Order: sequence, then structure tokens, then C-alpha cells
Amino acid sequence: MAWSTSHRKDELPPNWAALRKQAKARAGDVCEFRDKAGVRCADKGSELHHTGRKFDHRLEVLMWICTPHHAGETARQAKAAQYAKYVAAKKRPTEQHPGIRGAAATDKAIARRLHR
Ligand SMILES: [Zn+2]
Repeated sequence: MAWSTSHRKDELPPNWAALRKQAKARAGDVCEFRDKAGVRCADKGSELHHTGRKFDHRLEVLMWICTPHHAGETARQAKAAQYAKYVAAKKRPTEQHPGIRGAAATDKAIARRLHR
């Protein structure tokens, strides 16, 4: 969904502009994304990314990030959320093994048969 048609702006806190300014200053206006090897992106940042939950607006979980990395991270988060939803939907309550459930009763029945 494009930012222009999104309702996300309405979900952001009133101090969003100040948070952007603080994160940008912290990052020196350079993208804070790091690859798997820990190497930081050298591009200019332009957007603020939520590394945690979308309503967690604490500065420590916000990342000043370039547009390509923001798109990649947002897609990765969406995919992870979709997978979590899929796993939750597939999860069923665990059933007790039928052999275990009746084990004590079965043992008594066998003992009775053997000592007849
Ligand atoms: Zn970047």
C-alpha cells in the first residue's frame, strides 16, 4: 500500500516529527540498517522504521533507515507476521496418547486375566 493512501499516519504519535528528528540526529542521517555480517549501510537515511511492534514508538526501537532497506525490512516483518498467523491457525490442542491415557486401567485388566 502506498504511503499516500495509507492510514498509518493516523496511528503515529503526535511527537512523530520530533522522534524522526532525534533518530536522524542519532544516526548522523546515515541508514542504521546492518546486514547479517553487522556491516552498516552507508546510504543516507530518509525514513523511520519500527523494529518492534507497529505501535511501539520508543526511540530505542525506531531505526533511521534508507528507503530500500525500509521496504525490505517491512516486507520481512509482514512475511514473519503472516507465518506466525499461519502457525497459530494450524496449532491444535495436544491430545494425550491413547495408550498412555488408559495404561493404568489396561494394566489392571491384564493382571486380572493373568491371575484368573
Ligand atoms: Zn540502508
